[in-house]
Parts: sequence; C-alpha cells; structure tokens
Amino acid sequence: MLNVNDIRKDFPLLNTKVRGNQPLIYFDNAATTQKPICVINSLSDYYQNLNANVHRGVHWLSQEATDKFELARERVRHFINAPKTENIIFTKGTTDSINLLAECVSKTFLSQEDEVIITEMEHHSNIVPWHIAQEKYKFQLKYIPFNDKGELDLEAFKQMVSSKTKVLSLAHISNTLGTINPVKDIIKYCHTHNIIVIVDGAQSIAHLKIDVQDLDCDFYCFSAHKVYAPMGIGVLYGKKDLMEKMYPYQGGGEMIKEVTMLKTTFNDVPFRFEAGTPSVADAIGLGVALDYLDQIGMENIIEWEDHLMSYANERLKEIENIKIFGQSDNKSSCISFLVGNIHHLDLGTILDMQGVAIRTGHHCAQPVMQHFSIEGTDRISFAMYNTEQEIDTFMTALQKAIKMLS
Ligand code: PMP
Repeated sequence: MLNVNDIRKDFPLLNTKVRGNQPLIYFDNAATTQKPICVINSLSDYYQNLNANVHRGVHWLSQEATDKFELARERVRHFINAPKTENIIFTKGTTDSINLLAECVSKTFLSQEDEVIITEMEHHSNIVPWHIAQEKYKFQLKYIPFNDKGELDLEAFKQMVSSKTKVLSLAHISNTLGTINPVKDIIKYCHTHNIIVIVDGAQSIAHLKIDVQDLDCDFYCFSAHKVYAPMGIGVLYGKKDLMEKMYPYQGGGEMIKEVTMLKTTFNDVPFRFEAGTPSVADAIGLGVALDYLDQIGMENIIEWEDHLMSYANERLKEIENIKIFGQSDNKSSCISFLVGNIHHLDLGTILDMQGVAIRTGHHCAQPVMQHFSIEGTDRISFAMYNTEQEIDTFMTALQKAIKMLS
C-alpha cells in the first residue's frame, strides 16, 4: 500500500492554510490535482536552463529542448501503453482533443446520413464540440441514456446502433456520477459494427491503469492537469491508420511538409496535428508527473483511492437526508450529493469557511442535472494524497454546515 504521509510531503500546496489559518482540505481533485515538487521544479528548470523552440533549431539549446519534448511523448506512450510515439498528439487538454476530433473525424469520415452517439452523462466538452460539428456537417446526434443508479442503458444503446452509426464518444469515468463505464465491452461491440470509439479519459487517467491497446479504443483523450501535471497541456492518443486519413485541425508552423504560394502539403502524424509552438515545458512536466506515478504504482494508487471511497461512503451514511447521485457498484473517486433542501452552493460556502474545498454546481454536465431535475450537487473528489483524517475533518465540517443551514 502507498505511504500517503510520504506522498503528501511531495506536494507543497497541501500545507497551505486557508480562511484564517485552517489547514486546507482539498477535495476538488476531479477539477484539477495539485502538483508534486518534481513537476514544479521541472517547469522552473526548463525556463532556467532549457528554453528554446523545438524541432526547427540547429543550435544546441533547441536540440536539447526537442529531445526532452520528444522524451515526454515517449513517457506518455509508455504510460498508456500506446504502440508508438506517433500515436501521441500533444494538445491543450481534453477539451482541445475532443474539439479536434469532432472537427476532423466529422470532416473526414461523416456524411449527412451518418449518426454520432454520445451519452447523457458527458461533460460539456464531449457534447458542445459535437453540437458545433453537427451544425456544419449535418449528421444526427444521439444520446445513450442512463438509469437512476448512474449506469448507461446498454440495451438502449444497442437498439440505437445501425449501419448509419459511425462514431461513439463517451466518458471512461463520469465526472459527476463517478461511474466507471464498461468501455472495453462497448468498444468491442462497436468494432463489430465498424464504429469509431473515442474515450474521454479526463477522469480515468489518474484513477485507472490505462492500456489503450487492451481497451482497443480508436482515440483516448486526457488533460495533464488532472494527473498531477501542469495545466495547458493534454494528449490525444489515436490509431495511426485513422489519424493518417484525417484532415488537419489547424494550420501553421510544424504541421507542414511544404508550402508554396499555391498549396500546402501536410506533415506526418503526429506533427500534422500540432500546429504552432507547443507548450514544451508543460509537456516535459507531464512526463515527469507520469514517471512519478509509475514510481508509486497505479495499482497502489487505485487500492488507496478505493479505500478512501469506501471510508467516505460509510461515513456519509451518518448524514440524515443525504442523497448521493451515482450509485453504481463500479465507481471511482468522486461522490456527488445533496443534503435535504440545502442549496449546494450554501453548503460549499460553509465548508470553504472551514477550510474544506469541494466543488458545487452542475459540474459542466447539465444533462446529468436535467436527468435528476436538480440544478447542481456538492461533489467531493479524492486523489492519492488524501487521507482518512481529512474525511473525518470534512465530516465534522459537514455536520456543522448542515446544522447552520437547516
Ligand atoms: N471530460 C471530463 C469527464 C472532465 O471531467 C473534464 C474536466 N472536468 C473534461 C472533459 C474537460 O477537461 P479540460 O477542462 O481539462 O479540457
């Protein structure tokens, strides 16, 4: 099992005092994770010792920066077990990866008669890009519903699939319900119907062991900042044969082979999809974060987070009139809830006054709120550095908040 006290020492921000010298309890990890000192140091090291533009310099600094940037790509490849570094495109994050796919997949593979399926539990960043692409490319968009436990209705999904279905894009883990969707089975089913599957891994990258070859997904997207790495960088993994067919997303430097005044020929994958100067320091920081996780071991992280979830669920049973949204048996480290008629924002505010950071609102998943006819929830979400004691302190703060607000 992982040594949480040692791990906490690696995260300077966890020692922060907030709201009148109270220790911070950070339970908003589904929104973003804190960064270990090795990642913070790698950013400052890059700007102090290595800063240069990549790929196009003959000089030493540019070559060093390029080597480190490409090594980061290799670290990502290794972490998600992609076959080759060519499968790894650096983007700005999950949102950017899905926008790229909604545009490029639609332009390259879809016609007006075709259908794209997503689910009713998606984050807005896996809904809105499809709405935008739909306006342009005129395909049909369908949604897999979920039941009150927060599990996808796979029978309804199978009924929806036809020869017109070309793409399924779905979250691996719902950021609101915590449900771990059975993506491997879904992908297998889709491939028997020639459907391209895009997995939104924003919530799974830090909480599951990801093996894109084992999942056999066509695309997998994630944001570095959800996995202890810097903001502003993310990844799009894609199968090479699909990416090679895809028209580019943005034009600019890096993504070309040749430009004349009449036309452009495009670079090979992955560079074809990386127009402009990339976020080099952040990519290197991502590589450092993934190495750090490899040292701890994803199995140990999963075991600890499962333990925290069971402990939190057990303790939350003490709260009268609590309603938990997302009751799947296969759930990862977030719990969305409401207590009686207390407004989610009021509860979040009173918890914050006691040093406990949680998230309140619709969590960028308004269709999930519409399913339950609510405006928002309170959400606690854990990372590997959280502890049972923090859950105890949160429980005391929660009980106090409920007393004040009832
Ligand atoms: N999908 C899911 C499931 C998410 O939880 C998030 C972030 N909350 C996103 C997509 C978007 O991630 P980002 O804002 O980092 O692009």
